[in-house]
Amino acid sequence: MKYTLFFFTWNFMAVGLSRADHDWCYIELSCGPSAWANKFPMCGNTHQSPINIETASAKVNPDMKPLIFESPSQHKTREATVTNNGHSFDVKLKEDYTLRGALHPAIFKLKSFHFHFGAPGRLTKGSEHRINKKAYPMEMHIVFYNSNYKSADEAMQHDDGLAVLGVFFEVGAKNYVMQTIIDQLPNIKYKGQSAVFSMSLDDLLPRRLLSSYYGYKGSLTTPPCTENVAWRVLAQPLKISKKQLKTITKSLYYTRANDHHKERMWNNYRPVQPLNKRVVSHYLK
Ligand SMILES: [Zn+2]
Repeated sequence: MKYTLFFFTWNFMAVGLSRADHDWCYIELSCGPSAWANKFPMCGNTHQSPINIETASAKVNPDMKPLIFESPSQHKTREATVTNNGHSFDVKLKEDYTLRGALHPAIFKLKSFHFHFGAPGRLTKGSEHRINKKAYPMEMHIVFYNSNYKSADEAMQHDDGLAVLGVFFEVGAKNYVMQTIIDQLPNIKYKGQSAVFSMSLDDLLPRRLLSSYYGYKGSLTTPPCTENVAWRVLAQPLKISKKQLKTITKSLYYTRANDHHKERMWNNYRPVQPLNKRVVSHYLK
């Protein structure tokens, strides 16, 4: 009897601890998107992301520059590290990829890239941005910081600090580059786990996709929701197979390996935010 009581008490404490570990989350009401602004006031501001992009009102803007994405590796696979950060899986590359054209004439440096997705088998939700109210099953965010600042952390403090490429995925053929990342997911099931592998971001992002994009000024879609992001959302999606999507949505947990309470990582997208008089421009080559 004594042992049973001890067991229950201990379990209760473990659950309490693991939940307290979440500063913010996607699923539970107490820490989900509608509660973010309580702890992170900027999440309640007026220039937030993601948004719904109405293509009919996004005018072609001749002042927008072509996006130039450059890498030193030129389609060779190089060392990469994928991490479960408790909100998504995030990939860092060893090399200095750069992006020009987001905020001319600044040169942006690659920080890392991560993914937002829905629940297993649910193919109509998952992306953060929407196009004419339509969501895609997954969206990749390639995060860059302005090289006028010494580090990504320093850039975060400035209005022109960040540029993010949003890339949608739709269901189609197997994506062999994504598979190199998916193969690592069993090694990073839990929050805080990382795995080293090799891949080529050049091969994941064909340059022809950069020829049509939507641009607007917004925020990080996760706390602290700072409004210093030049968003560049590509009009054309990449492909991924149903099976690959299913594997992604079933492989990861928001929680740590030793947390008693296990929460599967899915539906890690923020709902769309009001546009509030912002203008979305369209770049078309
Ligand atoms: Zn993101």
